[in-house]
Order: sequence, then structure tokens, then C-alpha cells
Amino acid sequence: RPKLAVKTSCVAAPEKQQVCTGVRRNENFGKLQAGYLFPEIARRRRAHQEKHPDARVISLGIGDTTEPIPRFIADAMQRAAAGLGTLEGYSGYGAEQGRGEVREALCERFYAHVGRKASEIFVSDGSKCDIGRLQMMFGAGVSVAVQDPSYPVYVDSSVIMGMTGGYQEGRGFGGIQYMPCRPESDFFPDLRKVGRTDLIFFCSPNNPTGAAATRAQLTELVAHARERGSILIYDAAYALYISDPDCPRTIFEIPGAEECAIETCSFSKYAGFTGVRLGWTVVPEALRYADGQPVIADFNRIMTTVFNGASVVAQAGGLACLQEEGFKEMTELVAFYKENAEILRRAFTELGFSVYGGTNAPYVWVGFPGQASWDVFATILERCNLVTTPGSGFGPAGEGFVRASAFGHRDDILEAVERLKREFRGAK
Ligand code: PLP
Repeated sequence: RPKLAVKTSCVAAPEKQQVCTGVRRNENFGKLQAGYLFPEIARRRRAHQEKHPDARVISLGIGDTTEPIPRFIADAMQRAAAGLGTLEGYSGYGAEQGRGEVREALCERFYAHVGRKASEIFVSDGSKCDIGRLQMMFGAGVSVAVQDPSYPVYVDSSVIMGMTGGYQEGRGFGGIQYMPCRPESDFFPDLRKVGRTDLIFFCSPNNPTGAAATRAQLTELVAHARERGSILIYDAAYALYISDPDCPRTIFEIPGAEECAIETCSFSKYAGFTGVRLGWTVVPEALRYADGQPVIADFNRIMTTVFNGASVVAQAGGLACLQEEGFKEMTELVAFYKENAEILRRAFTELGFSVYGGTNAPYVWVGFPGQASWDVFATILERCNLVTTPGSGFGPAGEGFVRASAFGHRDDILEAVERLKREFRGAK
């Protein structure tokens, strides 16, 4: 057995004498780029604040929610928490798949009309965690396609699992099929140019572009997955932000999706549950592996093995979200953020920039052709004390864009817009 060894030449800190174990690092971590996008933004923001201690920096950056959880929903959680302190209200471990009532209520609200059953819905501590668990379920031997740009978790979790090669600047990771989604193709990939992969991550409305795929586009996507025998991992975390009736709110509105798709969704951006943590994943019984085994059996195994059920308090909140009063509150909260998006959209448009998204999503995607995203990020931070998110952090095709998030207090959004107008009016 290797013993603890004092190494004088630790790669991470050659100047220090460090005690190292005999454990080899998962080499895939070495492939990841500059840490996760958001810690890098936070680092740059801190550096800016240190340089300008009096500046009031406003963030349009990270995409975390800012408004309090609505009353009816918060009250339900308070009652559940208080109940845990009583003999009658106490409960311990629950079903790993989620409380029956919550699964039923999710199904009733979002899925019964498209033929899904409560038993196909797994309640969890959030979509990001479910994406990690799905990766664990499929293992390292599968190939992956992602929209480019996309939510970084699909790519980074694939890298950590060992599904990819190394990183090449401007091209991304070897072994991943990037499906460019740019304005010229209405932010939908040209599927004729996409080679077969086992998994296809697809997010609509998209983070970061704010584009919601239409019924026709999703029909094409489902046909593509079925023809190639791929599994779609459909991220619907922002589905409630869709107001265009031509854009489905679940992939299961598309006939045949139940044989080729898994959908993940979350209360994070619906009800301000980013800190509470509650999401769900739908795995249809009809979804099968090449050998005919049902995928749902393995997902159930994953949830019962490495997850132990969502928090009792969070599930009480989730249930309240799905009841009439809570659902109304949740819809109003989404509408509030959508108004923020509209304010941002209008401002960038008035300034003459190319503006996308923001109507079916809480993200506005602003084009700065010919400029590097990180440079635009730096200019906006320096001149306006505003944090945005550089598009290139979401994939090679995000270069030349920045994302502005509508998650913010109204006063901050209005102030941000004033600063942008002051600095950039007439610049284009
Ligand atoms: N999926 C997308 C597209 C997201 O943008 C986010 C959060 O920003 C998540 C999933 C994570 O959701 P959760 O908070 O449920 O883990």
C-alpha cells in the first residue's frame, strides 16, 4: 500500500513541502478549463471591486434568483419545518423517488395531458444534481452532443466522467459533438451536420441564448434522436417562462418523445428555490436501452443508491407550488422576472445592439460581432459597474455574445439600464 509521503516537488505547489497521499487524481479534472465559468466571473468581480471600492456593482451575471419565495409557498415550508419539531409532524427518510403526493401533483400540473404517469417522475434536490446522476447512470462509455452554446454543466460533467478528450481553444473538448445554435439558424442546430451520439443534451428555453424551440423544431429533434437511436436529455428548467403557444413546455408534447427522451426540470427559477433545492426528472417507462432493458429501472436504482429523497421541507414547498394559490404566486413571480427581461431587451435594442431571447426566457443574449466576449464583459464591468456573463463561457459558438440575466431586483434592473444607456448611447 502506498504510504503518506512527503513530496518536495508537489506539482500544485512546488515551493511548499506537502504531504501527499498515494491516490492518483482523476485525470479528467486536468482537462477542465479555468474552473467553472461562474467562479471566474466572481474572481473578476472581486478584483474590480478591490480596484473601485466605492463602486456599487450590479450583477446581471450569475442567474440566481433574487426575489423572496411567495407567501403561500413559504408558509407551507414553515409549517413543515415546525412540524418536524413535534411528535405528530416528525418524519424521517421518505421515498427516494419523492412523496407520492408531490409526484401526483407534478404529473397533474405538467404531464398527465401528454400521457406521463406519476410513477415516471422522480423528485430530487434539483436539476443540476439530476444531470450528474444521469451521467453516472449512463457511465463513461457513451458519446455526447450538446447545443453550442449551452449550460456548462452538460459539458463539464461529461469531461469529469471521462467521455471527452482534451480542450482546444475555440473548438472545445475532443469527443463532444457541439451543435452550433446561432442567430442565422434561429438558434436551432443544423441536425444534418450532427453525427450520431448516444446522448443529446438539449435545453429549451435555452440557457444562455433565451431561445425557445418551436413545435416544428422539437419534432425534428425527436425524429433525429429516434432515427439514430439516441437518448435526448431535455432540460426544461425554464419551461414556465414560455409564452409563445408554438413552443412546447415539455418535450413529451412531441409524439414519440416517450421512447427517446428524459426530461429534467426544477422549481429553482419558478419559485425562487435555488437555495431550497427541489427539482424532478421524468423517465418514461417506454424508454429502453439497446438490449431492451428499461432505462427507468436503472434511474430508480441510481436514486435509491446515491440519493435519499428530497428534503421534507422542500417537498412541502413544492406541493404548495402546485396547488392553486401557490401556482398563481409562482406564475406571478415568473411574470415579474419576464418584465425585467423585457426592460433589458428594450434597452439593448434601443442602443442598437443585436438582441435575442428574453421573451420566452429570463435571459437576454446580446451580440457584439467581432469582439471577444470576455473583452465585452470587461468593458461593461469597467464602464458601468455591471456584471454580465461572457458568451464564450457557454461554448465556442457563444463567442461574440454576452448574456444578461433578468434575475434581479427591479430597482437594480432599472439602474443597470440607465448605466448602459449613459455609457453606450450613440456608441453603435
Ligand atoms: N438547467 C439549467 C438550464 C439551468 O440554467 C440551471 C440553473 O441555472 C439548472 C438546470 C439547475 O437547476 P437546479 O437549481 O434545479 O439544480
